[in-house]
Amino acid sequence: MSFSSSVKDELSRQMPGARHCQIAETAAILSLCGRVKISASDHFWIEIHTENVAVARKYFTLLKKTFNIRIDVSIRQGIGNHKNRTCTVAVTHHEDAMRVLQAVKLIDPYGEIEENLSLAQNVVLMQNCCKRAFIRGAFLAAGSISDPEKFYHFEIACATEAKAKQIQGLILSMGIEAKIVLRKKYFVVYIKEGNLIVERHGSTSCAYGAGEHPHSQGDARECEPAGKL
Ligand SMILES: [Zn+2]
Repeated sequence: MSFSSSVKDELSRQMPGARHCQIAETAAILSLCGRVKISASDHFWIEIHTENVAVARKYFTLLKKTFNIRIDVSIRQGIGNHKNRTCTVAVTHHEDAMRVLQAVKLIDPYGEIEENLSLAQNVVLMQNCCKRAFIRGAFLAAGSISDPEKFYHFEIACATEAKAKQIQGLILSMGIEAKIVLRKKYFVVYIKEGNLIVERHGSTSCAYGAGEHPHSQGDARECEPAGKL
């Protein structure tokens, strides 16, 4: 398992305690790997597609805990050149899908889906705990991290510049410098060496921005026991 995969696997098993953070993390996963289907009769359906079981597991658990709704999970095994399996986690019941979209603010008060599933309002991201939860969800959905014992690199690949800028802004608001580079068709938000400190405490992975390390700041509560990115 790669370092990224093992971090994601750990993060997928940790659940934020507060409902506001659960909603923020759900919003990030939906925004980065979700899609909304609307039928001719205005029936909404939301689903995420991912090749990473950890992402599917986390999203499923978040939806169950936060909304207690019916969720359909399917796994498709690819064939030929596309051998990777794809997990689909779907909310197919219209009222349930609307509840989720309204809670995560991916839909505006008039029932319009925001372009490219960008957050309609940043109200779900007012608090620092929720900003962290959002970045954690974004990392799970579209990120990678190198083993910090070799070199520091943390990145999140976004399909649109608007999403990349939103994540960059969130990271900056925590005092960590993040840059954006266009790679293939993705806008990649990345943090360079020296701006990120990652620690692993047994089963817990923690990433801190420079200057917010618990030993230098004397406040480890932000990270334990849930392990916050
Ligand atoms: Zn929160």
